[in-house]
Amino acid sequence: MDTILVVNAGSSSVKFQIFAVDSDGNPRRQIKGQMDGIGSRPRLRATNAKGEVVAERVYPTENVRDVSAALAIAGDWVRDELRVAPIAVGHRVVHGGPAYDRPTLVDPGVVNRLEELISLAPLHQPYNLAPIRSLLAKFPDLPQVACFDTAFHRNHPKVADYFAIPQQLSDEGVRRYGFHGLSYEYIASVLPERAPEIAMGRVVVAHLGSGASMCALSGGRSVESTMGFTALDGLPMGTRPGQLDPGVVLYLLTTKGMSPSEVQNFLYKDCGLKGLSGVSNDMRELLNSSEPGAKFAIDYFVYRAALSAGLLTAAMEGIDAFVFTAGIGENSSAIRMRIAEKLGWLGIDLDSAENAKHAVKISGSGRTPVYVIPTDEELMIAKHTLSILQNTSQPVVVQTRAS
Ligand code: AMP
Repeated sequence: MDTILVVNAGSSSVKFQIFAVDSDGNPRRQIKGQMDGIGSRPRLRATNAKGEVVAERVYPTENVRDVSAALAIAGDWVRDELRVAPIAVGHRVVHGGPAYDRPTLVDPGVVNRLEELISLAPLHQPYNLAPIRSLLAKFPDLPQVACFDTAFHRNHPKVADYFAIPQQLSDEGVRRYGFHGLSYEYIASVLPERAPEIAMGRVVVAHLGSGASMCALSGGRSVESTMGFTALDGLPMGTRPGQLDPGVVLYLLTTKGMSPSEVQNFLYKDCGLKGLSGVSNDMRELLNSSEPGAKFAIDYFVYRAALSAGLLTAAMEGIDAFVFTAGIGENSSAIRMRIAEKLGWLGIDLDSAENAKHAVKISGSGRTPVYVIPTDEELMIAKHTLSILQNTSQPVVVQTRAS
């Protein structure tokens, strides 16, 4: 049976999944795995479709110094022990810039262009691209598909995409892109089956995880997002601040004398729930903490999510449904309830029992239905990869969007 390998590579871990292609041409998940502790305490762990652990082993640090080495070890395990030889690899790539508005078959030229976007996603892009490069060198004939977190947002109306800066900079690509697009695309793809009555309506989706953003879906398409040029904007996240007056950055550079790279590290690693609470970047730990800082960080997160719901509702001039997804959105009934309590004016309220059960539909008697839908970005990547393989007319050249 044909298989697709899906890779989601970060700075200290490589997540991978194997999908078998069934007789109807649909991807079915077989293996979920992760190499983590890259450069510190490398460990491979994998489970099968039943959730049973099929690999759990540690490696010497010197054998797994970087993401490419980690993927090579995972790849050897897949090939030698599972005896699986994927027909293609789909990769999550966080930034597609202005040019890539859809998943794309990669070649060295595409990787070069995507490397130009590293400064726009310094914590993700280099690690997303490193395994693509090493696989291209090792297996030049193996098709690889880059699936972008920005692509689903590429048809926003122009007013939603622009900053109020001179046109020349917008033309260079200094625009609002939006992220978590694979997650929102997955949610949009399952709404017709899970909630057909609102699937083509105006839906606010809250992807609340370590990275967090919200998206306005209208007729199944993204029309607005809380994230912008980089994945720093919008909601507060585990370690990123979310919306920040650019004057704060100027203050850090001038009055505090920080260098640009210090500011970059600060904004990506030391802010958000971690910076605000002084306790943790992890919502579970904050919910279990009695520290005043933890309580305030949760209050801030809830407040900004509710504010953003208002903003996205305004973008669509109304709301027909609200969806929670990702780690916090799928698992924390307390945070869902706190956000919903601020959105009564949008016709949102929750049924406590259904919310506690993490039911699909958790709304109470309010006019706006509220859903919990677990996201599945990897399945989306597998589907895109398959469809590019199956559709040989897929243009490999870059689609450039008119500004
Ligand atoms: P993600 O990036 O989507 O994996 O989400 C990670 C975030 O979800 C972390 O902040 C976790 O603390 C949070 N999370 C996962 N499970 C729960 C839970 N049961 N309650 C609260 N937060 C959770």
